[in-house]
Amino acid sequence: MLATIIIGGIIASFLYAVTSMKSIDFIHRRSQCDSCNENLKWYHLIPVISYIFLKGKCSHCKTKIDLSYPLCELLVIILFVIPLFLGLGLADYTLYYLIVALLIPVSFYDFNTLTIPNHMNLLFLFTGLYLTDLHYIEPIRDIFIVLILHLIYILFSESVGYGDIKLFTVLTLITPINFFIYTILLTYIIGGLFVIFINLYKENINNKIPLVPFIANATVLCFFLYEDFNLIYYGGFL
Ligand SMILES: [Zn+2]
Repeated sequence: MLATIIIGGIIASFLYAVTSMKSIDFIHRRSQCDSCNENLKWYHLIPVISYIFLKGKCSHCKTKIDLSYPLCELLVIILFVIPLFLGLGLADYTLYYLIVALLIPVSFYDFNTLTIPNHMNLLFLFTGLYLTDLHYIEPIRDIFIVLILHLIYILFSESVGYGDIKLFTVLTLITPINFFIYTILLTYIIGGLFVIFINLYKENINNKIPLVPFIANATVLCFFLYEDFNLIYYGGFL
């Protein structure tokens, strides 16, 4: 369990940096403060703990460190640990860990910037296809779904970004077809409830809403509730 916590924190920290990177030379140079560019010491890079230890400020210039860093790390750690206690409905643990490790950092990035970096979609596609060994590819159905996704984009390009369409395309290629259908339905149910909830409290809301946090939420829920959803789906209740 301790190993899972440490690995989760390190992976989250690394992949959030990869998500936010502007160019490849980030890999070569050392981690720096976002505002003063001071090189960070190794003890400034311990997930979650460094943030608490530094009281959320850079030790050099005292600029506030973005809360997304520790929150992203904490959330990944929690989601890494849960399967140790609670079995997955879709018992593909490799896929679960891949999706958590990639979608949580991208969720925070999408929340902050309303964009999905292209290199993350590509990374998701190639690692996903490799780790699932093309097991969930169903050519006819996948092509059909990708066509529908693009039709949705053409019809609703005001509210759906092409980054979201690409992310859904990757998801359909690396998950079972019914899993993907539950995920997309749940994404819009959770997203819809959220919009209604926000509307109750705010008069004018920004009409652009980051979709990846809801996709990540829905995907993780589907991993745990997969068998229950299958019962409903195949049991004739739907
Ligand atoms: Zn600084």
